Amino acid sequence: RAEADLAAAFEPVTMRDGRRLHVAANIAAGGEAQGALDAGADGVGLMRSEFLFLARQAAPDLAEQQAEYRAAVGAMAGKPVVVRLLDIGADKQLPYLALPATPNPALGERGARLWQAHPEMFDTQLDALLEAGRGLPVCEDGLTRLRLMVPMIADAGELRWVRRRLATRAAALGIERLPSLGAMVEVPTAALCAGSLAREAEFLSIGTNDLTQYALAMDREVASLAARSDVLHPGVLRLIALCLEGAEGRCPVAVCGTAAGDPLAGALLAAMGVDELSVEPARVAAVKATLRGLDAEALAAQLPALLALDDAAAVREALATMLASSA
Ligand code: PEP
Ligand code: MG
Repeated sequence: RAEADLAAAFEPVTMRDGRRLHVAANIAAGGEAQGALDAGADGVGLMRSEFLFLARQAAPDLAEQQAEYRAAVGAMAGKPVVVRLLDIGADKQLPYLALPATPNPALGERGARLWQAHPEMFDTQLDALLEAGRGLPVCEDGLTRLRLMVPMIADAGELRWVRRRLATRAAALGIERLPSLGAMVEVPTAALCAGSLAREAEFLSIGTNDLTQYALAMDREVASLAARSDVLHPGVLRLIALCLEGAEGRCPVAVCGTAAGDPLAGALLAAMGVDELSVEPARVAAVKATLRGLDAEALAAQLPALLALDDAAAVREALATMLASSA
């Protein structure tokens, strides 16, 4: 039994209703991938590549980036690795890229919005990722082992721009198979237009940290708002439900924000139908254990009642009661 439990820890979760769900890990560097695998992660759901670029005097060159992405893929033993393309802006500045100060950096040129102005840095990252993924076999789900994810996408046109750029770089490098390309859903319009986005993206990943911030107009950096800036707000949950509905049958949807690792929110997201939760490596085992015992069907049936509540505090309370009574 102990052996079976141990083996199960390294498999995707099968919930009580028979649905399978992946629990992946969020990492900031290739060197953290081994720890994620050892923790039982079914892949890397978010590698925040901006950490390679921060706190240094020059951007990492092609070889350095390639080594970092290769290290992540190499450590994960065939499991998928999703690398998020550089996600910076006036709030996460690089010393070698002067971005003009702007009164609302969170609403300014961030992530994908920035690249058209700085193609050289962006192209080096695309080249490094293309090289790191060159020739790798695809995963069981038909997507490439190394996957690229684009932050701050507002609509499908922005993703199309990235795909065209990626195709151009791949052609120049003689790479035929493009890596799978996904979009982060963290701008409310991306959730609202998920159907259109999912025709262009091979996967979606909901960034609940930013989605919550933008939906509630509450800056995630403002400590006094932290308690109210909660993914369990019925309005934020409605955006997530619309995202899942729009993507259904078109592409898988993950969640990679902090909410994925929150015991209450993670359970609800699983019941709502997400395909993957990506959490801090230290949370993987606990999240898997919670999901294994979860009666997702029963919880999903309660969703309309939760969405009809007034605010996040009410949802949190009702959800805690539901989960305690079904445990
Ligand atoms: C998010 O916004 O939820 C997310 C995962 O990205 P980050 O926290 O790095 O902005
Ligand atoms: Mg984000």
